[in-house]
Amino acid sequence: MATSSQNPLLAGRAPASALRSGAEYLKSLRDGRRVYLDGELVKDVTEHPALREAARSIARLYDIAAAPENREVMTFTSPKTGAPVHRGYQIPKTHADLKARRLFSEKWAEATFGLMGRTPDHVAGFFCGYATKPSLFAAGGKQFGENVVRLYEEARDNHLYMSYAIVPPQIDRSKPAHKQTDPTLHAGVVKERDDGIVISGAQQLATGGIYSDWLHLSCIQPLQPGDENYANGLVVPINAPGLKLYPRRAFARADMNSVDYPLSSRFDETDSYVIFDNVFVPWENVYCYRNIDLCRNQWHLTPAHAYGNLQAQVRYGAKLRFMIGLAKRMNENTGHDNNPPVQMAMGELAALVSIVESMAIAQEVVATTDADGVLWPSRTTLYAVMAMQSEFNGRMLEIIRELSGSAMITLPSSAGDFDNPEMAHDLEKYMCSASSDAKTRMAIMRLLWDFIGSEFGSRHQQYEKFYGGGTYVVKQSINRLYDYKRATALVDAALALPPVGAKH
Ligand SMILES: Cc1cc2nc3c(=O)[nH]c(=O)nc-3n(C[C@H](O)[C@H](O)[C@H](O)COP(=O)(O)OP(=O)(O)OC[C@H]3O[C@@H](n4cnc5c(N)ncnc54)[C@H](O)[C@@H]3O)c2cc1C
Repeated sequence: MATSSQNPLLAGRAPASALRSGAEYLKSLRDGRRVYLDGELVKDVTEHPALREAARSIARLYDIAAAPENREVMTFTSPKTGAPVHRGYQIPKTHADLKARRLFSEKWAEATFGLMGRTPDHVAGFFCGYATKPSLFAAGGKQFGENVVRLYEEARDNHLYMSYAIVPPQIDRSKPAHKQTDPTLHAGVVKERDDGIVISGAQQLATGGIYSDWLHLSCIQPLQPGDENYANGLVVPINAPGLKLYPRRAFARADMNSVDYPLSSRFDETDSYVIFDNVFVPWENVYCYRNIDLCRNQWHLTPAHAYGNLQAQVRYGAKLRFMIGLAKRMNENTGHDNNPPVQMAMGELAALVSIVESMAIAQEVVATTDADGVLWPSRTTLYAVMAMQSEFNGRMLEIIRELSGSAMITLPSSAGDFDNPEMAHDLEKYMCSASSDAKTRMAIMRLLWDFIGSEFGSRHQQYEKFYGGGTYVVKQSINRLYDYKRATALVDAALALPPVGAKH
């Protein structure tokens, strides 16, 4: 059985003999974490009007995973404790394992309509990947190999939610970390002690950070000689002294209701700028220290990036299914559903959605086993779809806007309009549709507007562009991995064809 006693990261946490319930998760968020919003230190993220509903949405995911009827699809047996743990922490050895990871993530993603990107299974995937290669980390010091496995096991066996901040702040991208105007602008080591290290500086952009248990700090951007202080891999509890989270403007506002903003009010996972103000990290929680090569290699010589981003693609597929479902309902409402040009446009949308859905499965099918018996999803497939996602996503939203005309705009000003008898009479008569009464039509169009047009929807478009890094980086990744040998062999074969036809 995992216990909470050995590691300060787990302080106060009950032994994980059972799966974590939503209520236990919510309770654990009241731990003195320092979240700053709208000029104030938030006392309790589970009670704050702008933050509480997203916390509840995540709590529901814990309940889904803990439900006895979901035991097989959502859990596997911890090799260490013998207790059921989330499949998001399962290291795949077979194609069936990889499929099981997908079904776990799909279940969670559909429960949030794909609108929460960094649910606990995202960074769990990264730690699964790191833990498959302890020897890689041990090359930086034996204890680091042991630490990365232990951190993975503790997170797994305690059903933890990790978020991550692995991109340096966009303060001045023209200079490396150590040449910024102040060497403590980017999060890095400022002091080494016998028992650990002290981190100061900022890092962007921990989506879901305010709702997580641990924050994973590392750096995925290329570092240069001189940047050693920033080349680390570690975790800290979110309530660590000195750790501060600055979420962007919240989209769920106190004056909002779920009729007018059905998605913003429930699924705003938040994106936080993270500030380390002399945060002490004991050595046990560090797995990479001042090591530029190791910091880079963790992303590419382990399956971490592939596992984490496969979850992201499964989540994206669920979101697109929801999106095309909304578009279909919209067309039924406007009476355009059987209009041939509209059907053509929907065909293009369906084609793009199907590509994303199928590419997640293709990553499983083309998965390969490495020398350690660990299955890697196909990274060529992953980066192919990620590289095009930025373009596809914009195209899909544009198709829906094109099909919508004024459908998302000609709506009552708020749910309150139906409370006024005179207005309700007018609305019910004149704002109905081909397929729905006025209230149902409004509910569908509000969902669509919140998905596409609201501040929440707009942030989502930015998220789909950048959650996996800039497109130019992803395109470089697939260019590096694509099987050009096989492609150019075809060219060589064509060049070697025996001549035919007239001599020249
Ligand atoms: C909604 C959202 C959620 C996020 N969540 C997380 C998270 O949970 N954890 C996390 O660690 N990070 C997260 N990120 C951060 C994300 O990883 C970064 O935004 C991403 O890596 C891009 O870095 P940047 O924003 O600093 O852009 P920059 O690196 O400054 O690049 C901006 C743009 O400049 C151009 N550009 C820059 N350099 C080049 C180049 N060499 N070649 C060509 N063009 C170039 C490109 O157009 C590029 O898109 C999130 C970002 C967003 C928007």
